[in-house]
Amino acid sequence: MTGSATDQTVTKTAAELSDAEVKKAAHKLLSQVGGSIATYAEACVRCGQCAEACHFYHASGDPKHTPAYKLFPIAKAHKRSVSPLGWLGLAPDVSRNDLAHWEELIFDSCTMCGRCTIVCPMAIDISSIVAATRQAFAKVGLGPPDLRAAAENSRDRGSPLGLTEEALEDRIEWLADDNEIDIPLDKDHAEVLLTVSSIEMMKYPQSIVGMAKLMNATGVDWTFSSEGYESTNFGYLSGRGDIAKTMIERIVHAAEKVGAKTVVIPECGHAFGVMRWSAANIVGRPLPFQVLHITEFLAEMKRQGKLKFKSFDGSITYHDPCQVSRRGGATEEARYLLDGFATDFREMTPTGNRNWCCGGGGGVQAMERAAGLRHKVFQIKMDQVEKTGAETLISSCANCRLTMDESAEHFHWDHKRDSLIELLADHLIEQE
Ligand code: SF4
Ligand code: SF4
Repeated sequence: MTGSATDQTVTKTAAELSDAEVKKAAHKLLSQVGGSIATYAEACVRCGQCAEACHFYHASGDPKHTPAYKLFPIAKAHKRSVSPLGWLGLAPDVSRNDLAHWEELIFDSCTMCGRCTIVCPMAIDISSIVAATRQAFAKVGLGPPDLRAAAENSRDRGSPLGLTEEALEDRIEWLADDNEIDIPLDKDHAEVLLTVSSIEMMKYPQSIVGMAKLMNATGVDWTFSSEGYESTNFGYLSGRGDIAKTMIERIVHAAEKVGAKTVVIPECGHAFGVMRWSAANIVGRPLPFQVLHITEFLAEMKRQGKLKFKSFDGSITYHDPCQVSRRGGATEEARYLLDGFATDFREMTPTGNRNWCCGGGGGVQAMERAAGLRHKVFQIKMDQVEKTGAETLISSCANCRLTMDESAEHFHWDHKRDSLIELLADHLIEQE
């Protein structure tokens, strides 16, 4: 698999940038200002209400983690272009020092979770500002090297974690044989195209088995495709717009080839967000299919009476993945699936659209240098879970799960964790 590389391909620090590259970053920042971004750049009233809503500020207490600061790169570039001082060349331009200072704020300490937006009186969408700003940084090679490598691996090898087409075929064959289950790959035609997150396939393969078991039980005509399978999009997270587009196009082409009317995104929050809310804009045309998160798809199947579950008697609490609940709009689907199944379900406080982020979204889980801050943030989640008294913590995002597993190991936090899909699959009532 190959794709075009139109951005800077070597990772640099701000100190290594030439003057021309600093100007290029400033120019790219400016080019990102348009429509809602311009409005956001001017709308902040510096009230500071967003500070306590952000898990990074909440965990560190450091004023630099106030979400409003993430507006500054774009606001500075914008101000220079619209103010009289800027027209006279007297307003300061984005500098090398600015880029050095902002890099950590834009990448390492923003999971693009959207929690700040729900408290902001001006409804400023910091997540979309951060996504746009990351593109300007990536343009000149700035950003965490591991995030960039994950994006480039996706473009060149099919996935950030080595899930090549051959590895996909091998693993599907192995999982199907070992679990005596049908896992269709590359059918000529299917109503539903199911995609994977390589995090699941490489680290939590029982999730794939669980999804297949549930999909088979619904009776729908579905398939995986080796031409478009990876739904994580590290191009989007790293600011590499070219790679984001390539990853989306693979899934679009695969869906068109099999004639799928529905593309189902697995337990991955940002994969869902990108495909559901951004993909059509990125590829420049409407998608010829609907995009559903796996919880939305299964909830609909349950509504239609196609899925039934034995009850789960232990106590459960559910972590809302930010991109599925708050930003994704699928807050109630997991709860509908749990209703009647989890006999002792305990909500966290806060929960649903106000639930705290796990600390690993927005690509932060993939940034080694962000581990210290990420672990600090995870203490908020541990505290929330402990307060519920629930024995098992579940989620519907493999990236959240990986973040929680890795952070739990760091803290030697011995608390049962599972995926919603795996738990449901284990309690499926097989129907005739
Ligand atoms: S989007 Fe989330 S992580 Fe980013 S600044 Fe807002 S609250 Fe903080
Ligand atoms: S809450 Fe909104 S308006 Fe207030 S400081 Fe934060 S971003 Fe600016």
